[in-house]
Amino acid sequence: CGITAQVGPTDAADTLLTCLENLEYRGYDSAGIALSDESGLTINKSEGTVGDLRAGISSDTFDGGVGIGHTRWSTHGSPSDENAHPHTDCTGSIAVVHNGIIDNHEALRTELQSRGHEFTSDTDTEVIPHLVSERLEAGEDIEAAFRGAVRELDGSYAVAMIVSGEQRVFATRHGSPLVVGLGDRTQYLASDVPAFIEYTDRVIYLEDGDVAVVGPSGHHVTDQAGKPVDRSVETVDWEP
Ligand code: GLU
Repeated sequence: CGITAQVGPTDAADTLLTCLENLEYRGYDSAGIALSDESGLTINKSEGTVGDLRAGISSDTFDGGVGIGHTRWSTHGSPSDENAHPHTDCTGSIAVVHNGIIDNHEALRTELQSRGHEFTSDTDTEVIPHLVSERLEAGEDIEAAFRGAVRELDGSYAVAMIVSGEQRVFATRHGSPLVVGLGDRTQYLASDVPAFIEYTDRVIYLEDGDVAVVGPSGHHVTDQAGKPVDRSVETVDWEP
């Protein structure tokens, strides 16, 4: 299983699918991507291989540069199209991919449902976009809403999120791996360096508790409270 993301000027669909193919060695039962452009978010996801997913996506129909991708190894909810990631909030304007397990997902889901949230999957992951959505509706900015939602999670996770109309990816990790890749005009995120090594060898290894905001020409990393943390950029000596 693995997650990936891209923020750049173009070609997100093709790059994300390539990154997912490069993560196939981690094992998975389903795959999916979410892409963001002027028309909003477009999600393609299904049980099966990344090859199946690629076959169902026409790159002619999308040339945006922002997106997230996932290969799933099911822990909560059977392998199915509905349970494949990315998962969204009720409005469909927030999309999230997640590796790991949210231990307190049942309590969070029950609370969210009591406040009117409707769920479309059996995954532990789906609580995340709903938590972010509530905070956005309460007036928090996206970064604060993401950090606030993450603080409510117990368990292990690497998470990446996109929001309709935003040229940024929001990401965090705790107990699951996550790496940022810095290109010239395009930035990447993935569970492991081989995902994007054919695009860049400049990487930042995030640590547990880090929250990263990655934009087209820059990034910053904080802790879950929003305090900046310094993470060095390393050049990896790996052959693609
Ligand atoms: N717990 C999540 C699920 O079952 C993520 C599993 C994974 O790491 O792929 O969908």
